[in-house]
Amino acid sequence: MLFIVSSPSGGGKTTLIRETISRLAAIGVEGHFSVSHTTRPSRPAERNGVDYHFVDEAAFEAMVQRAEFLEWAEYAGFHYGTSRAAVERELTAGRDVFLDIEVQGANQVKTQIPDVVKVFVYPPSYEVLRTRLRERRQDPPPAIQRRLQWALREFQVAGEFDYAIINDRLEEAVNALFGICVAEHHKSIRIKPRLDAIRTAFQQSLEKEFAG
Ligand code: 5GP
Repeated sequence: MLFIVSSPSGGGKTTLIRETISRLAAIGVEGHFSVSHTTRPSRPAERNGVDYHFVDEAAFEAMVQRAEFLEWAEYAGFHYGTSRAAVERELTAGRDVFLDIEVQGANQVKTQIPDVVKVFVYPPSYEVLRTRLRERRQDPPPAIQRRLQWALREFQVAGEFDYAIINDRLEEAVNALFGICVAEHHKSIRIKPRLDAIRTAFQQSLEKEFAG
């Protein structure tokens, strides 16, 4: 299954997704955090290939031309994109894939994969988001201002998402995302082949036992 988790930068979704993936692992559901490509310079604590694949504009543009992105968007002056091949590989391997992407990209994915589950993560307030962006000390003040302005734009389309989580306390937010994932796995339409198999086997056993 494919999940999109969108939130304004600094909304805390990276931690939220990583914690949720480890909770899912404990119940035998394998999850994969998709690593995006970006032209944004890496922050001090970030690692290439782990947080992002950091590429220059030319390399990004070449990937766009070769249609290698499932979706891509410009955000606050830089490009961000999701590798189509990586997502397909993980989904084929039977893993849940989590995309940490902004709202324009979320819409592009939805048009190609209607089955995707979209979750929007709200910060509880302006002050909390501003404090989180400042305290991580990884963006210069103009970049922080751009991210706060962008957040307001993102809220305007957040109502189109399937689910909303207010990320006030991490533990509660993880409970919510975990719960959404588990519930989606139990949608009868998604497990129809298994349900059909149980019903067929049930019918065969019934007929065998009471034959004649
Ligand atoms: P940041 O620069 O703070 O890491 O990310 C800025 C924004 O870009 C965040 O909202 C993040 O979710 C989004 N983002 C990260 N990777 C991708 C991607 O591959 N595609 C799109 N469309 N947005 C992304």
